[in-house]
Amino acid sequence: MLHIDGRMGEGGGQILRSSLALSAITNTPYVLDHIRGKRSNPGLQAQHLCSVRAAARVCNALVTGDELRSSELSFEPQDIVGGYFEFDIGTAGSCSLVLQTILPMFLHARCQAELRIRGGTHNPWSPSIDFIQSTFIPLLKHMGADIELTVETPGFYPKGGGCIHVRINTEYFGKDLHVLKRGKVQSIESIITSLHLPEHVAERETETIRRKLGLKKKQQEVRQLDSGISEGNFVSILVRSEGITECFGEPGKIGVPAERIAEKVCKQVKKYQKHGAPVGEYLADQLLLPLLLGGGGSFVATEASLHSTTNADVIGIFCDPRVEITQQDQGMRFNVSPLSKNL
Ligand code: ATP
Repeated sequence: MLHIDGRMGEGGGQILRSSLALSAITNTPYVLDHIRGKRSNPGLQAQHLCSVRAAARVCNALVTGDELRSSELSFEPQDIVGGYFEFDIGTAGSCSLVLQTILPMFLHARCQAELRIRGGTHNPWSPSIDFIQSTFIPLLKHMGADIELTVETPGFYPKGGGCIHVRINTEYFGKDLHVLKRGKVQSIESIITSLHLPEHVAERETETIRRKLGLKKKQQEVRQLDSGISEGNFVSILVRSEGITECFGEPGKIGVPAERIAEKVCKQVKKYQKHGAPVGEYLADQLLLPLLLGGGGSFVATEASLHSTTNADVIGIFCDPRVEITQQDQGMRFNVSPLSKNL
């Protein structure tokens, strides 16, 4: 059986998610040990365990080691099937990272699926809902996938209790994608999401962004929500350029003034604007699997993060090297060659 050491490269949860997806896609049984071996809390946490179980459901896999804090797992996939699925993380763990695990399977299977994933919807250190809706899904649409994601109930750390609903149609997925230049900036917009918090929190964030980036009122949306069991706040700023929309975000944090949160996101936007590359650090690692499973493609990113290079290495383990990363004047160029269609 194929063996992967979870301490390779970045040594975190992404190795688990990508390897589960690639195992199902290439129909390769494997063993993963030292899961999240470079983290201070190694092993499967609730979000990772839910990802394992979700992956197993989608491809009817035989699994051992699917327990909380488990550091070793074996996974024997069978055929990937579409359909309706519900998954519950049980904590405020990130719904979008569970989606990140199984979406590639559906992209490969060219099928229809509908998902409800319960857990956290506005998490730190993971793709935000605004990022998935505004940045990630539109690029997949260019590749022929039709994906709609809605937040049915928002869920913030620590209570969680959120739910996302995702409709997926990948029957026409398979085009190539090239994002090599950033076109003219068309607009910059902010979205502040607030749940069960005083209105002044969102107002102070909106005002800070207006001051730092010179946005007009009509470029600033505030969503004051009142459903769900949790409370929290999320600041997103979208940079819409020709050919790509990038999204930067940060959740509010108890003890950190709203102004600091908004300033932090503005700083990320300014850094991106200064750089000429179209694809940001996080989007880069997340585009590799879709490009591999579609018609291949290329992009220029602001950097090649350890997440990106590790993801490229995990792809290399299952499918031979498919990702080439080279330095260019405007940034790091990624070329991804497609997986053969008969797999
Ligand atoms: P661990 O706790 O082991 O680090 P994890 O499961 O939380 O694991 P990572 O392995 O760190 O996750 O992977 C995080 C994923 O979330 C990556 O794909 C990364 O690109 C994405 N991500 C992190 N921050 C952002 C952000 N601000 N915007 C968009 N995507 C993000």
